[in-house]
Order: sequence, then structure tokens, then C-alpha cells
Amino acid sequence: MDREAYLEGLLDEDAVLRGVRERSEAGGLPPISVAPGYGRLLTVLVRACRAREVLEVGALGGYSGICLARGLGPDGRLMSLEVEEAYARVAAESLRAAGLGDRVEYRVGPALESMRALEGEGRRFDFFFIDADKESYPGYLELALRLARPGALVAADNALWHDRVLDPGNVSAPAEAMRRFNRELSRHPRLTAVVLPAYDGLALAVVDG
Ligand code: SAH
Ligand code: MG
Repeated sequence: MDREAYLEGLLDEDAVLRGVRERSEAGGLPPISVAPGYGRLLTVLVRACRAREVLEVGALGGYSGICLARGLGPDGRLMSLEVEEAYARVAAESLRAAGLGDRVEYRVGPALESMRALEGEGRRFDFFFIDADKESYPGYLELALRLARPGALVAADNALWHDRVLDPGNVSAPAEAMRRFNRELSRHPRLTAVVLPAYDGLALAVVDG
């Protein structure tokens, strides 16, 4: 048994989250939701930050959305951005099945555009979870900084992009974008940040007040 298998075994994924995996599989969605331990980490982080408004970029079937929403207090809300309308419908159904339907709003469309619209509407957030198309990560970071309240937390999945960012011969657009994202996040004057080798690379940053 490896480390991740042992630690995931401690968590006992509940029926609601198992249901999301089943619903997603039945709907033909790709099996790329966060792992149970990663989902639990999102719940822990949202709760530790006492975040009231959370922005998710990349909803898929709602697995990470449920984990984020579970960390919210009674007046907390989740805004989730997804480009595929069919995926957003599955995610909305998952959140309803989890009893969290009234806590979430989905916006369908390219997330960069949705984030620009949210900025125009004066919306601000305390927590960001970035987990969508890799080429747009540098843009998502820039917009998250504009949408962030002081002290907001930014978490991002796939910082190592299946270790492709480690291979200097891989100059594909997603690998290059992810290298740029990791560099900018790690050195940004407004961020205190770290990228951890857990899962597929886990980036965490606090927006300084
Ligand atoms: N966070 C989810 C997994 C997300 S997978 C979970 O852990 O449960 C990545 C998602 O990003 C997919 O649903 C994909 O459709 C979406 N996506 C890809 N490009 C996008 C874009 N430009 N804007 C918004 N969503 C996008
Ligand atoms: Mg991911």
C-alpha cells in the first residue's frame, strides 16, 4: 500500500460523495475530480479561513464543490464556473443531493469571461479553488488577485500537471502555462505562497492584506 492509499483509507468517503462519482460516471464525465483527501483538505481550508464567499473555477460533476461548500458557515456561498453546460447541470444536481443546492450558483461559460464579469459586478471572494483548463491558469491567478479580499486564500490543483512541468523537453502550452503560474504564484509581491508535491501538485497562496 502506498502513502496516499493508506491515508485515503482513513477518510471513509461518505455516500453523498460516492454518489457524485457514480452520477459523474453515468453522465460520461471524465474521472478527474479531486481525491477524497484533497476534497477534505478543501473543506478544512474553507472552514479554517472562515470564508464566506468561495469561487471555484472548474466544477465538473460537483465533487470539489460539495467539499468547498461543506466548509462554509451558515451564511456562506459558493460561486462555481464551468464551461460545459451539461457538467454544470450534473454539478448542480450533486449539490442539491448533498442538501447544498441553495448555497451554490453556477455560471456557464469560459471562466476568464465569467471572472471579468464578476469583477465588473463588484463581487469579491475570500477563497479561490482553481481547477480548470491549464493554459488559463496565469489568467485565473491575475483575475483572482483582482477579485480577492485581503487575506483571501488561493488553492490550485494540478500544479505539476502529471509531472509534465518537470520535463524541460515538454514545451506544450499547458506545461508552459503551468510553469508560469507556479513561478508567478511563488514570487508574487502580493502573495505568500507555496507549491506542495502532494497529489498532482497543490498550490496554496494567501493574498496579503
Ligand atoms: N474541480 C472538479 C474537477 C474539475 S475538472 C472536481 O474536483 O470535482 C476541470 C473542469 O474545468 C472541467 O469540468 C472542464 O469542463 C472545466 N473547464 C475547462 N475549461 C474551462 C474554461 N475555460 N472555463 C471554465 N471551465 C472550464
Ligand atoms: Mg484537477
